[in-house]
Amino acid sequence: MAYINVEIEGNSSHHCLQGITLLELLNEVSFKNSGKVVAAYVDGEIMDLASSLENTSKVEFLTFDDPEGAKVYWHTSSHVLAHAVKRLYPAARLGIGPAIENGFYYDFEFPNAISANDLENIEAEMQKVIDEDIPLEKFIMERDEAEVYFREKGEKFKLELIAELPPEEEVTCYREGEFIDLCRGPHLPSTGYVKAYKLTGLAGAYWRGSEINPMLQRIYGVSFPEKKRLKKHLQLLEEAKKRDHRKLARELDLFSLHQEAPGCPFFHPNGMIIWHELEHFWREEHKKAGYQEIRTPLLLDCDLWKRSGHWEHYQENMYFSNLDEKDYAIKPMNCPGAMLIYLSQMRSYRDFPLRIAELGQVHRHELSGTLHGLMRVRSFTQDDAHLFMLPEQVEEEVGGIIDMIDRFYSVFGFDYKIELSTRPEKSMGSIEEWDKAVSILKTVLENRNLDFMISEGEGAFYGPKIDFHLRDCLGRTWQCGTIQLDFQMPEKFDLTYVGSDGEEHRPVIIHRVIYGAMERFLALLIEHFAGAFPTWLAPVQVMVLPLTDNQHSHALELKERLFNEGFRVEADLRSENLGKKIRDAQLQKIPYMLVVGEKEVESGRVAVRHRNEGDIGQVDKEDFINRLHTEINFRQLPDKMCS
Ligand SMILES: [Zn+2]
Ligand SMILES: [Zn+2]
Repeated sequence: MAYINVEIEGNSSHHCLQGITLLELLNEVSFKNSGKVVAAYVDGEIMDLASSLENTSKVEFLTFDDPEGAKVYWHTSSHVLAHAVKRLYPAARLGIGPAIENGFYYDFEFPNAISANDLENIEAEMQKVIDEDIPLEKFIMERDEAEVYFREKGEKFKLELIAELPPEEEVTCYREGEFIDLCRGPHLPSTGYVKAYKLTGLAGAYWRGSEINPMLQRIYGVSFPEKKRLKKHLQLLEEAKKRDHRKLARELDLFSLHQEAPGCPFFHPNGMIIWHELEHFWREEHKKAGYQEIRTPLLLDCDLWKRSGHWEHYQENMYFSNLDEKDYAIKPMNCPGAMLIYLSQMRSYRDFPLRIAELGQVHRHELSGTLHGLMRVRSFTQDDAHLFMLPEQVEEEVGGIIDMIDRFYSVFGFDYKIELSTRPEKSMGSIEEWDKAVSILKTVLENRNLDFMISEGEGAFYGPKIDFHLRDCLGRTWQCGTIQLDFQMPEKFDLTYVGSDGEEHRPVIIHRVIYGAMERFLALLIEHFAGAFPTWLAPVQVMVLPLTDNQHSHALELKERLFNEGFRVEADLRSENLGKKIRDAQLQKIPYMLVVGEKEVESGRVAVRHRNEGDIGQVDKEDFINRLHTEINFRQLPDKMCS
């Protein structure tokens, strides 16, 4: 009998029989979370626990709490869903069923469309599939055999997927009792591993996200190893629904989307006020940090995109136009424009670091099925910047950007996580260059005592990067800011500067964004604040409410006074009662309401109501104005934001 050595991450090395399965290995060793293990990395490749080990290998067991483990858990839950659906609706045709960021979905073509009311029934059938604790067994089918099998079953979408597999690739299937699905895996060992689940929604989805394909029905779900975690998650979902930026945008009249321009948002006056405040803050901070602002065209000659590499690598996501028998592309990124400005004059080492910022609108073609409010759009504005510098300036510049990002996010009350991504398999530049660049980025983070994760191999092909993941009020994370070192662009555009030695050299480039996309950032803000923006961002900051018609002229005077102070103020002169006016102002999430009655007219004071704190009482008018100036100028956060 042959033996192999298995090195278990976070544990000892283990001598065991060749062919041992991961599940058997787990039973043999004392692993602290053995009951929670759902899959494993074997020599860096994620595998089913049913897989056997043939060679000496390195094993890392994964639980639901590892992001990759959760994916296996959710993806397997999607098979449980498909299994249940096929039992209840044998004529339903299967699409695909991936894990997504928070759960899973499976796409089906039902002979008669189902409704949300049917989900409960499907959930009950899923419970049966789970109670039967059916093993998921991987097997390979011959290609023609697979085609016959899925054709007999009428699974036209699966046939399409098989036809697209490269000829040399095996057709991998999984047997789950009587149910066979085409899938690469990996999966949980058996359906009984799924402990708590919920189907969370039903939506229409084009097959493969494209409108030329049939419309399928997508069932969304989520699952957890413990009931209490599911419960907590569902509560968060409820809260997230209330905060959905698309719903709040309608209520607060911020933006809209129209069929005439799918994925390209239309900003309404209220939305533009917030947009301008975000821009204003951005400009102020960039000026302080020594940036210069540029603006480059949307439409650029295709030759430029060939030179930048976008033509080759990014064409599918670009929009084109042919004018005067010349091909143009609408920019999907701002970099090439910034490079042309760099090239517009001779650069010297004395100009460095050169920091050029651009609020640049870009267009990227995304599949219509993936579009989502302002979160995922086809047209958006990046708060881009390109920094040109000497190699020895990189450390300080990266540090400066990190400080800036920290200042930005703290203004909005966002926590964040930092991730450093290193050299991917396919990369430009020498390994030494990469190692050096990664070590510089690491040093900057370490010198600032910042916690960060390392994502091996996740860097851009042209250089390593630091990503910033925001954590919102509901604990959800969003990648927004990024700092990328670039070795490639200076070569492609033949960028040079004259050094102190009088010779020409290549500068180092950093690309960076802080908001990321303005549109998406705005969506995050809407959901984070549940529409109750800090006063500096609120479209209307103060609402003046006359108690009766007798105080109209006084209310208008007060409004004018506040307007002249630079505040965004309105007066509600409708002949409604005060209660109704307060309710309406609350619904609009206006930070301050000033009630003007006979008493206030005589005393020259104002009765202040705050949207969160309620009645604050009588305040001297001038005091109120000063207080509001301070709150706005210091961009203070609202209290009890996350209550
Ligand atoms: Zn699968
Ligand atoms: Zn760039």
